[in-house]
Amino acid sequence: MPNITNFINGQFIGTSNTENLDIISPHNEKIIAELCISNKEDIDICVNHAKNAFKLWSKIDVKKRIKYLIKLNQIINDNKEELVGRIVLEHGKNKAEALGEVEKGIEQLEYAISMPTIIRGKILEVATNVKCQVENEPIGVIASIVPFNFPFMVPMWTIPIAIATGNCIIVKPSEKVPLTMNKFAEFIKLSGLPDGVFQIINGTANTVTCLCNHVDIKGVTFVGSTKVAKIVHQLCNNQSIPKRVSCMGGAKNYLVAMPDCDIDKTVNNIITSFSGCTGQRCMAASVLVTVGNQDILLQKLIKLVSLLEKGYEKGQIGPVIDKASVQRIRNYINFSEKTGSQILVDGRKWVDNNPGYWIGPTIILHNNTNDPALNNEIFGPVLSILRVNTKEEAIEIENNNPYGNAACIYTTKGKNAEWFQKRFSAGMIGVNIGVPVPQTPFSFGGINASRYSTHDITGEGCINFMINKKKTTTRW
Ligand code: NAD
Repeated sequence: MPNITNFINGQFIGTSNTENLDIISPHNEKIIAELCISNKEDIDICVNHAKNAFKLWSKIDVKKRIKYLIKLNQIINDNKEELVGRIVLEHGKNKAEALGEVEKGIEQLEYAISMPTIIRGKILEVATNVKCQVENEPIGVIASIVPFNFPFMVPMWTIPIAIATGNCIIVKPSEKVPLTMNKFAEFIKLSGLPDGVFQIINGTANTVTCLCNHVDIKGVTFVGSTKVAKIVHQLCNNQSIPKRVSCMGGAKNYLVAMPDCDIDKTVNNIITSFSGCTGQRCMAASVLVTVGNQDILLQKLIKLVSLLEKGYEKGQIGPVIDKASVQRIRNYINFSEKTGSQILVDGRKWVDNNPGYWIGPTIILHNNTNDPALNNEIFGPVLSILRVNTKEEAIEIENNNPYGNAACIYTTKGKNAEWFQKRFSAGMIGVNIGVPVPQTPFSFGGINASRYSTHDITGEGCINFMINKKKTTTRW
Protein backbone atom coordinates (compact mmCIF):
# COMPACT_ATOMS: atom_id res chain seq x y z
CA MET A 1 0.00 0.00 0.00
CA PRO A 2 1.71 3.29 -1.06
CA ASN A 3 2.15 5.77 1.73
CA ILE A 4 1.69 9.32 0.48
CA THR A 5 3.98 11.57 2.49
CA ASN A 6 4.81 15.24 2.42
CA PHE A 7 7.42 16.63 0.02
CA ILE A 8 9.64 18.87 2.08
CA ASN A 9 12.94 20.43 1.05
CA GLY A 10 13.27 18.00 -1.87
CA GLN A 11 12.54 14.85 0.19
CA PHE A 12 9.47 12.64 0.56
CA ILE A 13 9.11 12.50 4.32
CA GLY A 14 6.44 11.28 6.71
CA THR A 15 5.15 12.98 9.82
CA SER A 16 5.49 12.26 13.53
CA ASN A 17 1.70 12.19 13.51
CA THR A 18 0.32 8.64 13.70
CA GLU A 19 -2.92 9.70 12.01
CA ASN A 20 -3.32 8.35 8.47
CA LEU A 21 -6.17 8.66 6.01
CA ASP A 22 -7.24 5.92 3.59
CA ILE A 23 -7.39 7.04 -0.03
CA ILE A 24 -10.24 5.25 -1.76
CA SER A 25 -10.69 4.80 -5.48
CA PRO A 26 -14.17 5.93 -6.53
CA HIS A 27 -14.25 3.17 -9.20
CA ASN A 28 -14.40 0.24 -6.80
CA GLU A 29 -14.07 1.61 -3.25
CA LYS A 30 -10.69 -0.12 -2.84
CA ILE A 31 -8.08 1.51 -0.61
CA ILE A 32 -5.32 2.63 -2.97
CA ALA A 33 -3.02 4.52 -0.61
CA GLU A 34 -2.56 5.89 2.87
CA LEU A 35 -2.11 9.61 3.37
CA CYS A 36 -0.06 11.16 6.15
CA ILE A 37 -1.80 14.03 7.92
CA SER A 38 0.58 16.84 8.83
CA ASN A 39 0.78 18.47 12.22
CA LYS A 40 1.90 21.96 13.17
CA GLU A 41 5.51 20.83 13.57
CA ASP A 42 5.60 19.53 9.96
CA ILE A 43 4.17 22.83 8.74
CA ASP A 44 6.73 24.85 10.71
CA ILE A 45 9.58 22.79 9.24
CA CYS A 46 8.19 23.12 5.73
CA VAL A 47 7.65 26.89 5.98
CA ASN A 48 11.18 27.32 7.39
CA HIS A 49 12.65 25.55 4.37
CA ALA A 50 10.55 27.71 2.05
CA LYS A 51 11.71 30.85 3.86
CA ASN A 52 15.35 29.82 3.52
CA ALA A 53 14.96 28.86 -0.13
CA PHE A 54 13.28 32.21 -0.82
CA LYS A 55 16.45 34.11 0.17
CA LEU A 56 18.27 32.77 -2.89
CA TRP A 57 15.37 31.99 -5.24
CA SER A 58 13.95 35.52 -5.10
CA LYS A 59 17.32 36.96 -6.12
CA ILE A 60 17.82 34.73 -9.17
CA ASP A 61 16.81 36.50 -12.37
CA VAL A 62 13.59 35.44 -14.05
CA LYS A 63 15.35 34.07 -17.15
CA LYS A 64 17.29 31.61 -15.00
CA ARG A 65 14.20 30.73 -12.98
CA ILE A 66 12.20 29.71 -16.02
CA LYS A 67 14.97 27.35 -17.21
CA TYR A 68 13.76 24.93 -14.50
CA LEU A 69 10.19 25.29 -15.76
CA ILE A 70 11.28 24.56 -19.33
CA LYS A 71 12.89 21.32 -18.09
CA LEU A 72 9.80 20.53 -16.02
CA ASN A 73 7.62 21.05 -19.09
CA GLN A 74 9.67 18.51 -21.01
CA ILE A 75 9.48 15.97 -18.17
CA ILE A 76 5.71 16.34 -17.85
CA ASN A 77 5.22 16.02 -21.61
CA ASP A 78 7.35 12.86 -21.65
CA ASN A 79 5.41 11.33 -18.75
CA LYS A 80 1.85 12.56 -19.29
CA GLU A 81 0.43 9.05 -19.06
CA GLU A 82 1.66 8.66 -15.48
CA LEU A 83 -0.29 11.73 -14.44
CA VAL A 84 -3.34 10.61 -16.41
CA GLY A 85 -3.21 7.20 -14.71
CA ARG A 86 -3.15 8.75 -11.24
CA ILE A 87 -5.98 11.17 -12.00
CA VAL A 88 -8.20 8.37 -13.36
CA LEU A 89 -7.38 6.14 -10.39
CA GLU A 90 -7.96 8.59 -7.56
CA HIS A 91 -10.53 10.95 -9.05
CA GLY A 92 -12.57 8.70 -11.34
CA LYS A 93 -12.83 10.91 -14.45
CA ASN A 94 -12.39 9.18 -17.80
CA LYS A 95 -9.01 8.97 -19.54
CA ALA A 96 -9.79 11.62 -22.16
CA GLU A 97 -10.93 14.04 -19.44
CA ALA A 98 -7.80 13.31 -17.39
CA LEU A 99 -5.58 13.92 -20.43
CA GLY A 100 -7.49 17.16 -21.13
CA GLU A 101 -6.80 18.23 -17.56
CA VAL A 102 -3.08 17.50 -17.93
CA GLU A 103 -2.96 19.48 -21.20
CA LYS A 104 -4.67 22.44 -19.51
CA GLY A 105 -2.12 22.30 -16.68
CA ILE A 106 0.70 22.30 -19.23
CA GLU A 107 -0.83 25.43 -20.82
CA GLN A 108 -0.41 27.21 -17.49
CA LEU A 109 3.21 26.09 -17.34
CA GLU A 110 3.86 27.36 -20.88
CA TYR A 111 2.34 30.70 -19.90
CA ALA A 112 4.67 30.98 -16.89
CA ILE A 113 7.62 30.15 -19.14
CA SER A 114 6.89 33.36 -21.04
CA MET A 115 7.25 35.36 -17.79
CA PRO A 116 10.34 37.35 -18.90
CA THR A 117 8.25 38.98 -21.61
CA ILE A 118 5.33 39.64 -19.23
CA ILE A 119 6.80 41.09 -16.05
CA ARG A 120 9.26 43.61 -17.34
CA GLY A 121 9.27 46.61 -15.01
CA LYS A 122 8.67 50.24 -16.04
CA ILE A 123 10.93 53.27 -16.03
CA LEU A 124 10.26 56.94 -16.93
CA GLU A 125 12.12 60.22 -16.59
CA VAL A 126 9.39 62.05 -14.63
CA ALA A 127 11.29 65.36 -14.24
CA THR A 128 14.67 66.65 -15.32
CA ASN A 129 17.20 64.15 -13.98
CA VAL A 130 14.52 62.35 -11.94
CA LYS A 131 13.54 58.82 -12.85
CA CYS A 132 10.74 56.67 -11.50
CA GLN A 133 11.13 52.94 -11.79
CA VAL A 134 8.69 50.14 -10.95
CA GLU A 135 10.09 46.68 -10.29
CA ASN A 136 8.18 43.46 -9.67
CA GLU A 137 9.27 41.60 -6.56
CA PRO A 138 8.04 38.23 -5.30
CA ILE A 139 6.01 38.36 -2.08
CA GLY A 140 7.57 35.38 -0.26
CA VAL A 141 6.15 32.03 0.85
CA ILE A 142 2.78 31.19 -0.70
CA ALA A 143 0.36 28.45 0.39
CA SER A 144 -1.93 27.06 -2.27
CA ILE A 145 -4.99 25.12 -1.08
CA VAL A 146 -6.75 23.15 -3.78
CA PRO A 147 -9.97 21.11 -4.27
CA PHE A 148 -10.45 17.50 -5.35
CA ASN A 149 -12.02 18.00 -8.76
CA PHE A 150 -8.87 18.84 -10.77
CA PRO A 151 -5.94 17.17 -8.99
CA PHE A 152 -3.42 18.52 -11.54
CA MET A 153 -4.91 21.49 -13.41
CA VAL A 154 -5.99 23.60 -10.42
CA PRO A 155 -2.62 23.36 -8.60
CA MET A 156 -1.03 24.33 -11.94
CA TRP A 157 -3.04 27.57 -11.94
CA THR A 158 -0.66 28.92 -9.29
CA ILE A 159 2.48 26.73 -9.03
CA PRO A 160 4.29 27.77 -12.26
CA ILE A 161 3.48 31.47 -11.84
CA ALA A 162 4.58 31.45 -8.20
CA ILE A 163 7.89 29.83 -9.17
CA ALA A 164 8.51 32.02 -12.22
CA THR A 165 7.88 35.22 -10.25
CA GLY A 166 10.43 34.17 -7.59
CA ASN A 167 8.14 32.94 -4.80
CA CYS A 168 8.35 29.65 -2.88
CA ILE A 169 5.11 27.69 -2.88
CA ILE A 170 3.62 25.08 -0.55
CA VAL A 171 0.69 23.11 -1.98
CA LYS A 172 -1.97 21.50 0.21
CA PRO A 173 -3.66 18.95 -2.10
CA SER A 174 -7.18 17.77 -1.46
CA GLU A 175 -7.02 14.84 0.97
CA LYS A 176 -9.31 12.98 -1.45
CA VAL A 177 -6.81 13.04 -4.37
CA PRO A 178 -3.21 13.41 -3.14
CA LEU A 179 -1.55 10.91 -5.55
CA THR A 180 -1.31 13.19 -8.59
CA MET A 181 0.61 15.96 -6.78
CA ASN A 182 2.83 13.27 -5.25
CA LYS A 183 3.82 12.15 -8.78
CA PHE A 184 4.27 15.80 -9.80
CA ALA A 185 6.77 16.22 -6.92
CA GLU A 186 8.88 13.45 -8.52
CA PHE A 187 8.94 15.51 -11.74
CA ILE A 188 9.90 18.64 -9.79
CA LYS A 189 12.81 16.70 -8.28
CA LEU A 190 13.95 15.60 -11.76
CA SER A 191 13.80 19.19 -13.03
CA GLY A 192 16.51 20.17 -10.55
CA LEU A 193 14.44 23.00 -9.05
CA PRO A 194 16.23 24.08 -5.85
CA ASP A 195 14.90 22.36 -2.71
CA GLY A 196 12.28 24.30 -0.79
CA VAL A 197 10.95 26.28 -3.77
CA PHE A 198 8.09 23.80 -4.26
CA GLN A 199 6.81 21.68 -1.37
CA ILE A 200 3.73 19.64 -0.48
CA ILE A 201 1.98 19.54 2.89
CA ASN A 202 -0.79 16.95 3.11
CA GLY A 203 -3.71 17.19 5.46
CA THR A 204 -7.26 18.30 6.09
CA ALA A 205 -9.09 21.35 7.47
CA ASN A 206 -6.74 21.73 10.49
CA THR A 207 -3.74 21.80 8.15
CA VAL A 208 -5.36 24.64 6.20
CA THR A 209 -6.03 26.59 9.40
CA CYS A 210 -2.36 26.21 10.44
CA LEU A 211 -1.18 27.42 7.01
CA CYS A 212 -3.49 30.45 7.09
CA ASN A 213 -2.33 31.35 10.63
CA HIS A 214 1.38 30.92 9.90
CA VAL A 215 3.13 34.25 10.26
CA ASP A 216 5.77 33.47 7.62
CA ILE A 217 3.26 32.64 4.89
CA LYS A 218 2.69 35.88 3.01
CA GLY A 219 -0.01 34.81 0.56
CA VAL A 220 -2.72 32.14 0.41
CA THR A 221 -4.56 31.03 -2.70
CA PHE A 222 -7.65 28.90 -2.23
CA VAL A 223 -9.89 27.08 -4.70
CA GLY A 224 -12.85 25.09 -3.38
CA SER A 225 -16.37 25.47 -2.02
CA THR A 226 -17.86 28.85 -1.09
CA LYS A 227 -18.23 27.71 2.52
CA VAL A 228 -14.49 27.10 2.91
CA ALA A 229 -13.52 30.07 0.70
CA LYS A 230 -15.24 32.33 3.26
CA ILE A 231 -13.41 30.63 6.16
CA VAL A 232 -9.99 30.93 4.49
CA HIS A 233 -10.61 34.53 3.44
CA GLN A 234 -11.60 35.49 6.98
CA LEU A 235 -8.70 33.62 8.60
CA CYS A 236 -6.18 35.38 6.37
CA ASN A 237 -7.72 38.81 6.98
CA ASN A 238 -7.81 38.27 10.75
CA GLN A 239 -4.00 38.10 11.08
CA SER A 240 -2.14 40.97 12.75
CA ILE A 241 -0.66 41.69 9.33
CA PRO A 242 -3.45 40.60 6.94
CA LYS A 243 -2.23 38.09 4.38
CA ARG A 244 -2.69 38.51 0.69
CA VAL A 245 -5.48 36.05 -0.13
CA SER A 246 -7.22 34.90 -3.29
CA CYS A 247 -10.26 32.64 -2.83
CA MET A 248 -12.33 30.98 -5.56
CA GLY A 249 -15.61 29.47 -4.36
CA GLY A 250 -18.43 27.28 -5.64
CA ALA A 251 -20.80 27.84 -8.52
CA LYS A 252 -24.28 27.44 -9.97
CA ASN A 253 -24.02 28.02 -13.69
CA TYR A 254 -26.98 28.93 -15.90
CA LEU A 255 -27.45 28.22 -19.59
CA VAL A 256 -30.15 29.98 -21.57
CA ALA A 257 -31.44 28.49 -24.84
CA MET A 258 -33.22 30.95 -27.15
CA PRO A 259 -35.86 29.65 -29.60
CA ASP A 260 -33.45 30.54 -32.46
CA CYS A 261 -30.58 28.34 -31.18
CA ASP A 262 -29.07 25.62 -33.38
CA ILE A 263 -30.78 22.68 -31.71
CA ASP A 264 -28.33 19.86 -32.50
CA LYS A 265 -25.21 21.82 -31.62
CA THR A 266 -26.87 23.22 -28.49
CA VAL A 267 -27.99 19.79 -27.27
CA ASN A 268 -24.50 18.29 -27.69
CA ASN A 269 -22.90 21.24 -25.96
CA ILE A 270 -25.33 21.15 -23.03
CA ILE A 271 -24.63 17.44 -22.50
CA THR A 272 -20.86 17.95 -22.41
CA SER A 273 -21.29 20.90 -20.09
CA PHE A 274 -23.44 19.25 -17.41
CA SER A 275 -22.20 15.65 -17.52
CA GLY A 276 -18.49 16.10 -18.41
CA CYS A 277 -16.22 15.18 -15.48
CA THR A 278 -19.45 13.75 -13.98
CA GLY A 279 -20.66 17.28 -13.31
CA GLN A 280 -17.85 17.88 -10.82
CA ARG A 281 -16.61 21.11 -12.40
CA CYS A 282 -17.07 24.61 -11.11
CA MET A 283 -17.82 25.55 -14.75
CA ALA A 284 -20.41 22.76 -15.31
CA ALA A 285 -23.90 23.66 -16.45
CA SER A 286 -26.38 23.34 -13.66
CA VAL A 287 -29.60 24.99 -14.83
CA LEU A 288 -30.95 25.22 -18.37
CA VAL A 289 -33.51 27.98 -18.87
CA THR A 290 -35.43 27.57 -22.12
CA VAL A 291 -37.11 30.64 -23.55
CA GLY A 292 -40.30 29.07 -24.87
CA ASN A 293 -41.15 25.41 -24.36
CA GLN A 294 -38.49 24.08 -26.77
CA ASP A 295 -40.06 20.58 -26.98
CA ILE A 296 -37.78 19.37 -29.79
CA LEU A 297 -34.64 20.45 -27.93
CA LEU A 298 -35.85 18.69 -24.79
CA GLN A 299 -36.75 15.47 -26.64
CA LYS A 300 -33.30 15.30 -28.27
CA LEU A 301 -31.61 16.05 -24.95
CA ILE A 302 -33.51 13.29 -23.16
CA LYS A 303 -32.81 10.78 -25.94
CA LEU A 304 -29.04 11.40 -26.03
CA VAL A 305 -28.57 11.67 -22.25
CA SER A 306 -30.43 8.35 -21.78
CA LEU A 307 -27.79 6.69 -24.00
CA LEU A 308 -24.81 7.78 -21.85
CA GLU A 309 -22.89 4.92 -20.24
CA LYS A 310 -20.71 4.54 -17.21
CA GLY A 311 -16.99 3.91 -17.71
CA TYR A 312 -13.52 5.33 -18.21
CA GLU A 313 -13.34 5.76 -21.97
CA LYS A 314 -13.96 8.94 -23.95
CA GLY A 315 -17.61 9.98 -23.78
CA GLN A 316 -18.38 7.70 -20.83
CA ILE A 317 -19.31 8.98 -17.39
CA GLY A 318 -17.05 8.19 -14.45
CA PRO A 319 -18.08 7.84 -10.80
CA VAL A 320 -18.37 10.78 -8.40
CA ILE A 321 -15.72 11.26 -5.74
CA ASP A 322 -17.25 9.57 -2.68
CA LYS A 323 -20.27 7.99 -1.01
CA ALA A 324 -21.31 11.30 0.55
CA SER A 325 -21.52 12.83 -2.96
CA VAL A 326 -23.79 10.01 -4.21
CA GLN A 327 -26.05 10.55 -1.21
CA ARG A 328 -26.11 14.35 -1.59
CA ILE A 329 -26.98 14.16 -5.30
CA ARG A 330 -29.62 11.51 -4.67
CA ASN A 331 -31.22 13.60 -1.92
CA TYR A 332 -31.62 16.56 -4.29
CA ILE A 333 -33.29 14.39 -6.94
CA ASN A 334 -35.55 12.71 -4.34
CA PHE A 335 -36.67 16.07 -2.97
CA SER A 336 -37.43 17.50 -6.42
CA GLU A 337 -39.49 14.43 -7.25
CA LYS A 338 -41.38 14.59 -3.95
CA THR A 339 -42.25 18.23 -4.51
CA GLY A 340 -43.73 17.66 -7.96
CA SER A 341 -40.86 18.13 -10.42
CA GLN A 342 -40.56 15.65 -13.27
CA ILE A 343 -37.45 13.44 -13.47
CA LEU A 344 -36.97 13.22 -17.24
CA VAL A 345 -33.78 11.14 -17.05
CA ASP A 346 -33.10 9.35 -13.78
CA GLY A 347 -29.44 8.75 -12.84
CA ARG A 348 -30.47 7.05 -9.61
CA LYS A 349 -30.77 3.81 -11.56
CA TRP A 350 -26.95 3.65 -11.62
CA VAL A 351 -26.87 3.45 -7.82
CA ASP A 352 -26.77 -0.20 -6.75
CA ASN A 353 -25.01 -2.45 -4.25
CA ASN A 354 -21.94 -2.94 -6.43
CA PRO A 355 -18.80 -1.14 -5.33
CA GLY A 356 -18.05 2.32 -6.77
CA TYR A 357 -19.62 5.74 -6.38
CA TRP A 358 -21.88 5.74 -9.41
CA ILE A 359 -24.79 8.03 -10.13
CA GLY A 360 -25.91 8.67 -13.68
CA PRO A 361 -26.76 11.83 -15.62
CA THR A 362 -30.10 13.20 -14.51
CA ILE A 363 -32.50 15.76 -15.99
CA ILE A 364 -35.14 17.41 -13.82
CA LEU A 365 -37.95 19.55 -15.21
CA HIS A 366 -38.86 21.89 -12.37
CA ASN A 367 -42.26 23.24 -11.54
CA ASN A 368 -41.24 25.87 -9.00
CA THR A 369 -38.25 28.15 -8.55
CA ASN A 370 -37.83 27.39 -4.82
CA ASP A 371 -36.59 23.83 -5.30
CA PRO A 372 -33.18 23.43 -3.55
CA ALA A 373 -31.87 21.57 -6.64
CA LEU A 374 -32.36 24.80 -8.58
CA ASN A 375 -30.61 27.02 -6.08
CA ASN A 376 -27.80 25.06 -4.38
CA GLU A 377 -24.59 23.76 -5.90
CA ILE A 378 -25.20 20.00 -6.42
CA PHE A 379 -21.76 19.17 -7.90
CA GLY A 380 -22.87 16.10 -9.81
CA PRO A 381 -24.27 15.19 -13.26
CA VAL A 382 -27.67 16.85 -12.78
CA LEU A 383 -29.29 19.31 -15.18
CA SER A 384 -32.25 21.31 -13.91
CA ILE A 385 -34.61 22.72 -16.53
CA LEU A 386 -36.88 25.70 -16.14
CA ARG A 387 -39.17 26.98 -18.89
CA VAL A 388 -39.89 30.70 -19.21
CA ASN A 389 -41.63 32.83 -21.82
CA THR A 390 -39.27 35.77 -22.24
CA LYS A 391 -35.59 36.58 -22.13
CA GLU A 392 -36.31 39.11 -19.35
CA GLU A 393 -37.60 36.27 -17.14
CA ALA A 394 -34.53 34.19 -18.00
CA ILE A 395 -32.09 36.92 -17.01
CA GLU A 396 -33.98 37.65 -13.79
CA ILE A 397 -33.62 34.01 -12.74
CA GLU A 398 -29.89 33.95 -13.53
CA ASN A 399 -29.28 37.29 -11.81
CA ASN A 400 -31.06 36.13 -8.64
CA ASN A 401 -28.62 33.29 -7.97
CA PRO A 402 -25.92 34.19 -5.45
CA TYR A 403 -23.04 32.65 -7.40
CA GLY A 404 -21.32 34.13 -10.44
CA ASN A 405 -18.85 31.79 -12.07
CA ALA A 406 -20.19 31.08 -15.57
CA ALA A 407 -23.26 31.61 -17.74
CA CYS A 408 -23.97 30.77 -21.36
CA ILE A 409 -26.41 31.87 -24.05
CA TYR A 410 -27.31 29.59 -26.97
CA THR A 411 -28.50 31.59 -29.96
CA THR A 412 -27.84 32.15 -33.66
CA LYS A 413 -28.55 35.89 -33.34
CA GLY A 414 -25.78 38.32 -32.43
CA LYS A 415 -28.19 40.76 -30.85
CA ASN A 416 -29.50 38.11 -28.43
CA ALA A 417 -25.94 37.10 -27.56
CA GLU A 418 -24.99 40.69 -26.81
CA TRP A 419 -28.15 41.30 -24.78
CA PHE A 420 -27.34 38.39 -22.45
CA GLN A 421 -23.60 39.01 -22.40
CA LYS A 422 -24.28 42.51 -21.00
CA ARG A 423 -26.79 41.30 -18.39
CA PHE A 424 -25.50 37.95 -17.06
CA SER A 425 -24.19 38.24 -13.50
CA ALA A 426 -21.16 35.97 -13.92
CA GLY A 427 -17.43 36.39 -14.44
CA MET A 428 -17.13 34.02 -17.42
CA ILE A 429 -19.68 34.15 -20.23
CA GLY A 430 -20.16 31.68 -23.06
CA VAL A 431 -21.86 32.32 -26.38
CA ASN A 432 -22.77 28.83 -27.62
CA ILE A 433 -20.07 27.46 -25.28
CA GLY A 434 -21.35 25.75 -22.13
CA VAL A 435 -17.98 25.60 -20.33
CA PRO A 436 -16.56 29.05 -21.13
CA VAL A 437 -13.13 28.70 -19.51
CA PRO A 438 -10.92 31.59 -20.68
CA GLN A 439 -7.71 30.19 -22.15
CA THR A 440 -4.31 31.68 -21.41
CA PRO A 441 -3.33 34.48 -21.48
CA PHE A 442 -6.86 35.39 -20.34
CA SER A 443 -7.42 34.77 -16.67
CA PHE A 444 -9.95 32.64 -14.80
CA GLY A 445 -12.29 33.99 -12.15
CA GLY A 446 -15.93 34.40 -11.25
CA ILE A 447 -17.74 37.10 -9.27
CA ASN A 448 -20.30 37.26 -6.41
CA ALA A 449 -20.22 34.18 -4.12
CA SER A 450 -17.87 32.42 -6.54
CA ARG A 451 -14.93 34.63 -5.56
CA TYR A 452 -13.83 36.17 -2.27
CA SER A 453 -11.01 38.39 -3.45
CA THR A 454 -10.12 40.89 -6.12
CA HIS A 455 -7.65 38.80 -8.12
CA ASP A 456 -8.46 36.24 -10.78
CA ILE A 457 -6.72 32.97 -9.98
CA THR A 458 -4.80 32.50 -13.26
CA GLY A 459 -2.99 34.63 -15.85
CA GLU A 460 -2.48 38.31 -15.17
CA GLY A 461 -4.61 38.11 -12.01
CA CYS A 462 -2.32 35.45 -10.58
CA ILE A 463 0.83 37.38 -11.52
CA ASN A 464 -0.49 40.49 -9.76
CA PHE A 465 -1.22 38.35 -6.70
CA MET A 466 2.31 36.95 -6.67
CA ILE A 467 4.24 40.24 -6.89
CA ASN A 468 4.82 43.46 -5.01
CA LYS A 469 5.37 46.50 -7.18
CA LYS A 470 8.36 48.37 -5.78
CA LYS A 471 8.61 52.02 -6.86
CA THR A 472 11.99 53.77 -6.78
CA THR A 473 12.48 57.48 -7.52
CA THR A 474 16.08 58.42 -8.37
CA ARG A 475 18.00 61.68 -8.74
CA TRP A 476 21.74 61.69 -9.39
P1 NAD B 1 -13.71 22.00 -0.33
O1 NAD B 1 -14.00 23.43 -0.10
O2 NAD B 1 -14.42 21.00 0.48
O3 NAD B 1 -12.13 21.70 -0.12
C1 NAD B 1 -11.15 22.49 -0.73
C2 NAD B 1 -9.90 22.47 0.14
O4 NAD B 1 -10.20 23.03 1.42
C3 NAD B 1 -9.36 21.07 0.39
O5 NAD B 1 -7.96 21.08 0.26
C4 NAD B 1 -9.79 20.76 1.82
O6 NAD B 1 -8.87 19.95 2.51
C5 NAD B 1 -9.87 22.13 2.46
N1 NAD B 1 -10.92 22.24 3.50
C6 NAD B 1 -12.09 21.54 3.57
N2 NAD B 1 -12.82 21.95 4.63
C7 NAD B 1 -12.11 22.92 5.23
C8 NAD B 1 -12.34 23.74 6.39
N3 NAD B 1 -13.44 23.64 7.13
N4 NAD B 1 -11.37 24.65 6.74
C9 NAD B 1 -10.26 24.78 6.01
N5 NAD B 1 -9.99 24.02 4.92
C10 NAD B 1 -10.90 23.11 4.53
O7 NAD B 1 -13.94 21.75 -1.91
P2 NAD B 1 -13.92 20.37 -2.71
O8 NAD B 1 -15.11 19.55 -2.32
O9 NAD B 1 -12.59 19.75 -2.61
O10 NAD B 1 -14.09 20.89 -4.21
C11 NAD B 1 -15.33 21.16 -4.80
C12 NAD B 1 -15.68 22.63 -4.67
O11 NAD B 1 -14.67 23.43 -5.27
C13 NAD B 1 -16.96 23.00 -5.45
O12 NAD B 1 -17.71 23.87 -4.65
C14 NAD B 1 -16.46 23.68 -6.71
O13 NAD B 1 -17.37 24.57 -7.29
C15 NAD B 1 -15.27 24.39 -6.16
N6 NAD B 1 -14.32 24.75 -7.21
C16 NAD B 1 -14.25 26.08 -7.55
C17 NAD B 1 -13.40 26.48 -8.56
C18 NAD B 1 -13.32 27.92 -8.95
O14 NAD B 1 -12.37 28.31 -9.61
N7 NAD B 1 -14.27 28.77 -8.58
C19 NAD B 1 -12.59 25.55 -9.23
C20 NAD B 1 -12.68 24.20 -8.83
C21 NAD B 1 -13.55 23.82 -7.81
